[in-house]
Amino acid sequence: MKQNFLPFSGQRIAIVGLGRAGLPSARRLVEWGAEVLCWDDGEAARKGAAEAGLKVGNPALVPGFPFDALLLSPGIPHTLPRVHPAAAAAKAAGVPVLCDAELLFRAVRAWPSQARFVGITGTNGKSTTTALIHHLLKRAGRAVEVGGNLGPAALGLRLLGDDGVYVLEMSSYMLERLDRLHFNIGILLNLSPDHLDRHGDMDGYAAAKLHVFDHQDAGDIAVLGMDDDWGARFAAGRGAKVVPVSGQTAQKGGVWAEGRILRDEAGIIADLDTARALPGSHNAQNAAAAAAAALALGLTRQEIAEGIADFPGLPHRQEAVGTIDGIAFVNDSKATNADSTERALLSYDRVVLIAGGVPKAGGLTPLAPLFPRIAHAVLIGQAAEDFAATLAAHGVAHDIAGTLGAAIPAALAAARATGTKVVLLSPACASFDQFTGFDARGDAFRAQVASMMETV
Ligand code: ADP
Repeated sequence: MKQNFLPFSGQRIAIVGLGRAGLPSARRLVEWGAEVLCWDDGEAARKGAAEAGLKVGNPALVPGFPFDALLLSPGIPHTLPRVHPAAAAAKAAGVPVLCDAELLFRAVRAWPSQARFVGITGTNGKSTTTALIHHLLKRAGRAVEVGGNLGPAALGLRLLGDDGVYVLEMSSYMLERLDRLHFNIGILLNLSPDHLDRHGDMDGYAAAKLHVFDHQDAGDIAVLGMDDDWGARFAAGRGAKVVPVSGQTAQKGGVWAEGRILRDEAGIIADLDTARALPGSHNAQNAAAAAAAALALGLTRQEIAEGIADFPGLPHRQEAVGTIDGIAFVNDSKATNADSTERALLSYDRVVLIAGGVPKAGGLTPLAPLFPRIAHAVLIGQAAEDFAATLAAHGVAHDIAGTLGAAIPAALAAARATGTKVVLLSPACASFDQFTGFDARGDAFRAQVASMMETV
């Protein structure tokens, strides 16, 4: 680190929300010369900040809101459904509400560095695409940092020189809090109804996502997913060069999958059948977006093909965790709704499915067209009775195990009995009735499969 690098010297920054991103951001901003006032509505978080030597106080109560910026945690609303008092005070005083990616951008340019920024957004596939782009660049020997919504916090990342690349997963909440940040490559994968309580309606949500293309000009790239109606609607009229991507259909001037072959107009880029961590056409679209970004950043087609093949994938998203007697166990605990479970079911011809937890509206019913792929279902959690009724009505074999611990051996037995080669945990439910989160549920699945592999 250069001595005396103080890009925020003389600036007063209020930080509200001291979670995963807030606390490291506060430390970094102090290190970079800012005068910081930290706040969290939770007392424990405030105590932690004070113990870390940070100045704690409620900026909403400081007359005139005398700050240059409010760094507001993405989890805290500044408009809908309810304005946080700090955001209201900032607005009244004409002070910008920013996210940490914006402040990282300012620090990088002050360094000074022309490192490039890649921003990835969309309703689904952000984390996978972000991780894949990072993987491709890293194994090609590029200086690269990855973070944002995926973690670690943007302000926790290293400063990179002119040849560096920041790969940032951007939630809609972060995108609403940008000012000067300009993505050299902006990626919008898809849009489906989500977080509408915060954005009002689909148009509000789409408008937030479109900030990923703000300030782009002819030297920049806008990668647009074309597998839903939204991509086509946005394709025209923006400053950057548009690169359309699809997991299904040919795209003029773009990157797409033809069957499992990823290609552009110049020819084949990669065979997705070599990619063990990217099953399904949704992942073909994610791979197409990552390849479009990598090509724009100067990677060779061979570097992209090799990187797609050895991408390890992210935990809890169709993660292969082990094999017993030739039966593969797949952890898709991130599938907390029927939409995501649908993606997983589409990736296999026949499975024993472990599902259940805290159900979402509609339950398993939207998956009925895919029920023929379920050789047997093993049900857990609050949803078990309801899911059992839906499956019974469609003649799908099932039983209720109650807990995940009981479901795994039951699923193995069902797979053996039916000659099925895949046991898939894809719950179509939140996990909070039995776990602290989808990651704890997936970790429990992985650990139990590992211990069963030792004993059989
Ligand atoms: P995010 O970070 O946007 O939540 P992830 O990469 O973690 O996305 O993927 C979460 C789930 O979303 C996956 O398990 C899969 O079911 C679904 N998904 C992933 N990519 C796509 C895509 N391109 N289109 C639609 N659904 C997808």
